[in-house]
Amino acid sequence: MKKENELKKSTMKKVQVPSGRPLGRIVCPNCGNDSDFVEVARNVIVSTIYVQNDDGSFTPNEGDSEVLGKVGLYCGQCDTDVSFFHTHLTEMIF
Ligand SMILES: [Zn+2]
Repeated sequence: MKKENELKKSTMKKVQVPSGRPLGRIVCPNCGNDSDFVEVARNVIVSTIYVQNDDGSFTPNEGDSEVLGKVGLYCGQCDTDVSFFHTHLTEMIF
């Protein structure tokens, strides 16, 4: 049991933001950019339901998207992979 807990701890450490960085804002470790970040989702299935109207035109009714692959986060200035900040970003979207 104890071993399992220790294992969990070490895995968690890997995903955590490196110590020494401000908790409130993320900064690109390569160029110092702290304003523009790009989220890239791979293998996304986007489905949209269209309703055909009486005149033959279509109206999009309902949309749905499913991310099957990895979602990465990149610096908007220098394209450095900052995916380790992605959890932080999803927690800070308001
Ligand atoms: Zn950068």
